[in-house]
Amino acid sequence: MPSDDAFLIDLDGTLYHGERMVPGADKLIETLNERGIPFLFLTNNSSAAPEAVALRLNKMGIPARAEQVCTSSMAAAAYMAGRKPGASAAVFGEAGLKNAVEAAGLTLFDEADGTPDYVLQGIDRQFTYEKLARAGRLILAGAEFVLTNPDLLLPSESGLMPGAGTLGAALESMTGVKPAVIGKPSPVLMNFAFNLLGVGAAQVTVIGDNMMTDIKAGAESGCRSLLVLTEEGVTTPSNLERHKKLAGTEPDLVKANLHELREWVLHL
Ligand SMILES: [Mg+2]
Repeated sequence: MPSDDAFLIDLDGTLYHGERMVPGADKLIETLNERGIPFLFLTNNSSAAPEAVALRLNKMGIPARAEQVCTSSMAAAAYMAGRKPGASAAVFGEAGLKNAVEAAGLTLFDEADGTPDYVLQGIDRQFTYEKLARAGRLILAGAEFVLTNPDLLLPSESGLMPGAGTLGAALESMTGVKPAVIGKPSPVLMNFAFNLLGVGAAQVTVIGDNMMTDIKAGAESGCRSLLVLTEEGVTTPSNLERHKKLAGTEPDLVKANLHELREWVLHL
């Protein structure tokens, strides 16, 4: 009897690190494809469009198509368009975020228009003092503040970098306004992904390396969670207990690496 399992699989620290594939990622995805198990690549990263994410995976040898990629940008744009169709949004972010806003039928805000319906902020590696001032003023003038993802630290090959949540914290401290948060652990991104997959939470296992985002997202959206302790990931055997306490939750399953995860998939 075929299983009715479906997976949401984190990218950074789970399937790749920088431009390097985590060992076993290609075989894991091949196995899911062979077994016809539905899944999406699920990322909090708002910077790249799904086509660019799929291309990056392909270059590493991981089979992926754009329609299998679900980003916080897509969910943020759908969240805003669902509440106010055709709304205007001042976007502080990169190409993937602007593309998603336009694809959802929203209007990119023009300074001449007064106050936009939304200030949407994601990772913006060209962020400046001037942008902070502009975004903050628009929020203080009444625009709703939407944050793509709460990540505070991004691992990179040159060391830790500030994440979208770090920039969001500056905006929050300027305005005193808490943003609507879209990415993991928020159930907004999770529910958006369940809809894309066409499944309910009970069928889904979220797979990732981060207790605070991936595993907490599972707990908050009612799906099963599986933590992988890849060497490239946030959680390691030595910090697992501390991260469990920080996240205030436990993973339903833990696998030591992607080979072990694939073995488990083979027995579903
Ligand atoms: Mg990760």
